[in-house]
Amino acid sequence: MPLPHHPSEATLHAWPTFTAAAPMRVLVSGCLAGLPCGVDGTSYGEYPLARFMLARPNVKAFPFCPEDHAYGTPRFTPNISLGNGFDVLAGRSKVEADTDAEEDITEPMIREARAMAALAVRENVHLALMMDISGACGSTVVYNGRRARKKYATGPGVAGAAVIELGIPLVSQCDERTLRMVLRKLGAEADAPFGDGLDHHERDWYIATFGAVPGTSA
Ligand code: SF4
Repeated sequence: MPLPHHPSEATLHAWPTFTAAAPMRVLVSGCLAGLPCGVDGTSYGEYPLARFMLARPNVKAFPFCPEDHAYGTPRFTPNISLGNGFDVLAGRSKVEADTDAEEDITEPMIREARAMAALAVRENVHLALMMDISGACGSTVVYNGRRARKKYATGPGVAGAAVIELGIPLVSQCDERTLRMVLRKLGAEADAPFGDGLDHHERDWYIATFGAVPGTSA
């Protein structure tokens, strides 16, 4: 069962048939589109299913990296101090640099999260495809505090929250069950490089860390 931020069956059904002339319009985390905008100046490796989807002729991608816009590349890792991106947008939490001083870098993170969401509105996207666990682009899980502490929280990053608040369906590279439905809509399910076929919240690590999401299958 999908999570509330995923495209629902009703949404998938309501989408038109996508063609090269009238493609699915997708807001994409820059790194998932292959841009070298990660904190280390890479695109964080290969994400075959995301790349497969973005390479379809009936998909038009709009890549954006909120952290690159906020802090440049390469850079420190920005970490949500507590909770998730909704808490940051609401002023209940902040974003800190993953440095010994843990500088408060909340303002530029919020500004560029809003800029990413504004791009989605301007380009009238059908869907956002974003990198999970990122403090900016996450959707189902985010880090809390410095990475070395390996603390996690459920929910989106700051840009993910800004996109969700606008009602834009959001899926991550980790959500294979939902991506399968999207690829079916694109007429491209047959050749897609699926792994285990599960969404992020259905995997053993998620359930061992947070418990099963009520009403969803494991
Ligand atoms: S996850 Fe988002 S913020 Fe991080 S490198 Fe990718 S596009 Fe940039």
